[in-house]
Amino acid sequence: MTHPLFSDHPLPAFGAIEATQIEPALRELLDANRAEIAALLDVGADGWETLVVPIERMHHRLARAWSPVGHLNGVMNSEPLRAAYNACLPLLTAYHTELGQNERLCAAYQRVADREGADLGAEQRKVVENALRDFRLAGVSLPPERKQRFGEVMERLATAQAKFDENVLDATHAFSRHVTDEREIEGLPANALQRARDAAAAAGQDGWLLSLDAPTYQAVLSHAVSEPLRREFYEAWVTRASDRGPHAGQWDNGPLMAEILALRHEAANLVGFANFAEYSLATKMARDPAEVIEFLHELARVSRPAAQREFAELERFAGRPLASWDVGFYSERLRKERLQVSEEALRPYFPLPRVLAGLFTVVHRLYDVRIVANTAVETYHPDVRFFDVLDHDGTPRGGFFLDLYARPKKRGGAWMDECVGRLRLAGASALPIAYLVCNFSPPAGERPSLLTHYEVLTLFHEFGHGLHHLLTRVEVPSVAGINGVPWDAVELPSQFMENFAWRDEVLPLVSAHVESGEALPHDMLARLQASRTFQAGMQTARQLEFALFDFRLHAEYRPDRPPRIAETLAEVREAVAVLRPPEFNRFPHSFQHVFSGGYAAGYYSYKWAEVLSADAFGAFEEHGVFDAATARRFLSSILERGGSRDAMEAFVEFRGRKPEIGPLLRQMGLAA
Ligand SMILES: [Zn+2]
Repeated sequence: MTHPLFSDHPLPAFGAIEATQIEPALRELLDANRAEIAALLDVGADGWETLVVPIERMHHRLARAWSPVGHLNGVMNSEPLRAAYNACLPLLTAYHTELGQNERLCAAYQRVADREGADLGAEQRKVVENALRDFRLAGVSLPPERKQRFGEVMERLATAQAKFDENVLDATHAFSRHVTDEREIEGLPANALQRARDAAAAAGQDGWLLSLDAPTYQAVLSHAVSEPLRREFYEAWVTRASDRGPHAGQWDNGPLMAEILALRHEAANLVGFANFAEYSLATKMARDPAEVIEFLHELARVSRPAAQREFAELERFAGRPLASWDVGFYSERLRKERLQVSEEALRPYFPLPRVLAGLFTVVHRLYDVRIVANTAVETYHPDVRFFDVLDHDGTPRGGFFLDLYARPKKRGGAWMDECVGRLRLAGASALPIAYLVCNFSPPAGERPSLLTHYEVLTLFHEFGHGLHHLLTRVEVPSVAGINGVPWDAVELPSQFMENFAWRDEVLPLVSAHVESGEALPHDMLARLQASRTFQAGMQTARQLEFALFDFRLHAEYRPDRPPRIAETLAEVREAVAVLRPPEFNRFPHSFQHVFSGGYAAGYYSYKWAEVLSADAFGAFEEHGVFDAATARRFLSSILERGGSRDAMEAFVEFRGRKPEIGPLLRQMGLAA
């Protein structure tokens, strides 16, 4: 095999990937895996070494081949790549379904469990248990016609979800606003204006060209004095890919959403679950839908009075009733007045190179690993850099691609993804490699990218995911790093890392004024810390609105009527929200976490894991944020163990008890 996608080189050869070759290469790889599995079953392989190890190795090979394709589709989207990606999705889905429904294979795994179960290590036993669970979830014991239907449903679901994403991307890029009258953009921060200037110049226009990328959208909503401009951007944003707004009907996700919900419900039913919410929980830490709903309602009970108080205060401050497009703007002003701190005023203190260096220092002090730029590695864009992660004695632990700036054809938001998973099996080995992606404003001329504190938190967050992937000691790829970790526990290491970016001990390490080099002055630091609980009730209400909407939508779905998308959202807002958005709001149409990402009937995971992360960080507050023993325990109980053990057991090992909600409420300033 000579195709670049099959190479076992430690890093992807991005430059050698040609869109037209992706589909044939993937077909070849899948067929090779199929043949290999059939051969294993034909010789009666049913031991850890003879069956599980070869299968883990072939899936590692497949994941490593596919990862750069999926990644480039997300960050360097192009027509040929998109076509290749879309052609491959059904092939992959069909392959996974076929594997999950392979009765002979399932029986062989069962024999591994029966015969060797007692002798296997905990990590190995978890791999076999997970495999048996996944066979069940793929409908391995269903009669043939239902099996086939399950496969069709999963395949269509993958395609529909990918289309949902495309519609959001296309609708986002379709909108721009040309401004020639300076008065219209009053209040916008300098960096946003500079980008808009550059964009206009690039398009051969004078004035400013404002696009709908996330940094620009946030800048307009938080800072534009012009209410009509804020309203225009708000409307464009919340109507993306819908039947309303400036591109009404052009990329309408409405029908796709109904189809996606119907398909998920059908798939869940086929394999014996009452609805998709129950199916989703089969692989999560939460036990059943009632536990999730009760958890969210408990948080709502605590945070709603605070949210109502905060909103009333904001309206008093503004001196008038507020619309959805006013909230960000007046909140920023109130924050500035009350706390004498604004995100924009903080930017000069957080030049990206300093933030990165400080972050690496924090990681070094906690876990004794060094992070060093490696310019010899080929990347896929001039802005993207590669870093090695080295042990205290210089031994490589892994590496990551760092892709931080917003640019056209790149998906919005921030995320960490696996490029290569850790593997040490049967003489073969691979080090973990990650992608860390953000959408910060790019450097302007000679000046580095300047981050808001919110963006510093984002970077710490994604880096927390990165450490989970990169510092794993697990040798079997399917439970190494973030693999095999329940979705509602996967945000523990990421949200945990955010805590550091609020601390006295850490802020001086990540701040240095872009001109004077001065660290964040003490009074600004104190005011920034005080801002952490600013509008905490409103922020919590918003997360609960998303989480309850998502969970109820899937739990209450009924096939005999159209999905109650708008109705469910309205009911949830009635129960938890403090502000009623305008009638044209179509936020679900671009809610990618739930309709196309991995958070379906799982958005509650953010809050769930926040309880875990706040409680885990509590141990550092008790012993000191750089306490070596506490950090070592967090490393060995959580970070290094990946999905190789039960998430609750891992937490209890670290904390000495089960998680408690108190630390999160205190952190948010919501404790009674
Ligand atoms: Zn995350």
